[in-house]
Parts: sequence; C-alpha cells; structure tokens
Amino acid sequence: MSEHPSDQQFETLAIHAGQEPDAATGAVVPPIHQVSTFKQDGVGGLRGGYEYSRSANPTRSALEENLAALEGGRRGLAFASGLAAEDCLLRTVLSPGDHMVVPDDAYGGTFRLIAKVVERWGVRWSVADTSDPDSVRAALRPETKLVWVETPSNPLLGITDIAMVAEIARGAGARLVVDNTFASPYLQQPLALGADVVVHSTTKYMGGHSDVVGGALMTSDAALGEELAYHQNAMGAVAGPFDAWLVMRGIKTLAVRMDRHCANAARIAEALEAHPRVSAVLYPGLPSHPGHETAAKQMRAFGGMVSFRLADGEDAAVELCDRTKLFTLAESLGGVESLIEHPGRMTHASVVGSALEVPADLVRLSVGIESVDDLLADLGQALG
Ligand SMILES: *Cc1c(COP(=O)(O)O)cnc(C)c1O
Repeated sequence: MSEHPSDQQFETLAIHAGQEPDAATGAVVPPIHQVSTFKQDGVGGLRGGYEYSRSANPTRSALEENLAALEGGRRGLAFASGLAAEDCLLRTVLSPGDHMVVPDDAYGGTFRLIAKVVERWGVRWSVADTSDPDSVRAALRPETKLVWVETPSNPLLGITDIAMVAEIARGAGARLVVDNTFASPYLQQPLALGADVVVHSTTKYMGGHSDVVGGALMTSDAALGEELAYHQNAMGAVAGPFDAWLVMRGIKTLAVRMDRHCANAARIAEALEAHPRVSAVLYPGLPSHPGHETAAKQMRAFGGMVSFRLADGEDAAVELCDRTKLFTLAESLGGVESLIEHPGRMTHASVVGSALEVPADLVRLSVGIESVDDLLADLGQALG
C-alpha cells in the first residue's frame, strides 16, 4: 500500500486516496474490473501484481488503499460483509485456548459470531461494560488476547473511552479492536487513539446508500496487516469488484453526508427528549447522556443514530414502528434514507436471553439526510 500525504484532510483523502485516474484510459473513476483472472506475460510475469481476483483485484485494491487512508492506517482490507471481516480478524489473531473480552452492548451478529461460531473452536470470552474501566479489568485473564469495543454501541449508543481501554488492553498484552461502524472514520479515528485494528460494516455509512453489503479491516501494524491479508486470501470472503466500486462511490460523499446525519439526529434527539410519551433518549450528543463528555473528546460530532424508550412499553414501541410513513421500517442503518426499527424483535433478536439483551420498549432510528422538518413531522404524527 502506498503512503498518503499526511497533510491532506479527510474530505480530500475520501475523494482521492487510491483513486488515481486509470493509467490506460484516463478514466477519473477507477473502473470496475469485473474479472477473475489476469493474463501473464510469460510464466509468473504479472502486470501490476495481479494474478487472480480472490488474491487481489484492481478495483478492490483502489478501495483498500482508500480505506487505509481514511482511518489513518497502513493497511486496509475489503470483505464481502462486516461479519466476513470480523471472522477473518478473529481467526487470524485467536487460537484455541485464547480468551477475548466482548462488550455488553454490541451488534447482535458480532455476538452471535463469537458465542455460537468462534467459541466452538475453543476460544473463550467474557462480557464487560467497556464504558467502565473496572469492568474491563475484571474481565481480563492471563489468556486474554483481544478486547472488543463498539462505540457508539448498537443499539444503546453507549460510549467507551477508546484511549483508556487501549491502555488497559496494552497493559494486559491484548489487542484492542474497535468496531467504528456507527461513527465512521469521519467522526472518530480509533487507530490514532491506540486501537490495533478497526472494523467496519461498510454496508452502513461508508456505502451510505443501502445498495451494497461489505466490510473492512484497517490497521497501522504492518506485520498484522500482512497476516490479515494472508488470511483474507486463504479464507476467501473478499469484496467483489462491483461491490468495492459501490463502497468507493459512497465514500466520496461520506463527510458531507455525515454532517447532515449528525445535524438531523441532534434536532430529533432534542425533540424526542421533550416528548411526553418518550421516557428516555439515548444520544451521545445530549448533555444528559452519561458518555457525552467522552464522546465530545473523541468524536468530531455525535452521529446519526438515535435510540429511545417509550413510556408505555413494548406494545407502544412496536406500534410506533408501524405508524411512521417517512421513516421506513427496516433493519440496517447509515443510508441516506431514514429507518426505524424495534431492536428487541429485529436486529437484536439473536441476543434475547443473553447478557446483551436490549429493553423491549426500545426503538432505534437511523436518521437520514432528508429535510429534518419532514422527519420531525413524521415522528410527531406517529407518536400522536
Ligand atoms: C451491520 C453491522 C455489522 C455487521 O456487518 P454486515 O455488513 O451486516 O455483515 C457489524 N457491526 C455493526 C456495528 C453493524 O452495524
């Protein structure tokens, strides 16, 4: 991977890193190299190092170079989904007998991968409240190799102090992984705060248009980057050329989209906090949020996700999800269109009965970039 001028700002890197005009034609956007194999000029005579598209593909390489630059890392790797990226990471850095710390609020699929799949291969895990340093320390064991953090977390929007947990993990000889999906690298850069690896579901804000599923790993550790790349090729869950191209196209507008997501979400969080049918609003931008100061320290702004609880309980929460007209009832997040969902029955159904179970009266919004007045009007009519 080439290095990027560190004096360039995020908005510039998002548009230019890894995006050199095509050498053959001058096309200003990297072409979709929809191809599986590459002609060799004599045995082993590879052009630009390309031989077979699982190992490397020029469209994916353009995205991977861009991803590394966005997180201020040395290596970026693009996968078929966020969970494919997580699976590659876990199987690269953990062996049977190793232990990892799992946050008590995390994407349900991450927890399922660890508790139902990776555990069967002899990896042990304990749950911690990663926003509390004592809870993280108490979860550590001599065999702990990995500490997993998601901040802001899904769906409770909990905030973990990344620099603090990085120090605790380093002291224990464990690596820190941060799932940066909710913040995006525009709002938060975990590698600069001491994380060893950043994970993304690029399906969400990076892609940004609800039209592609993808995942990414970024690291500043060149040796770990090599190991991850080796496993990415050995395991094979790579991003296809068209999917890589869609994620790249989304990333070019990430900064302007995030500005609007954050502004709209802040307005909606304030309005909900004042609504009599809402018993609690979980948004790190609100001074009432317990992680507000930490979020203000490590994030540029507070993101586009807002969760809240209904005073009248689960039935009221489910009913609200049925009554919005502009907020679409759907899983996922981070697209330009606003979505609403009931985590207990939808995205987090897989953690019911576990330490990660979420409140039944909880509703989660992915606030899009439509007119905030229209969004407020829709929530207003749905709440009655
Ligand atoms: C969606 C999501 C994932 C999983 O990503 P996929 O692309 O759906 O595999 C991981 N972490 C977070 C925070 C997510 O929102």
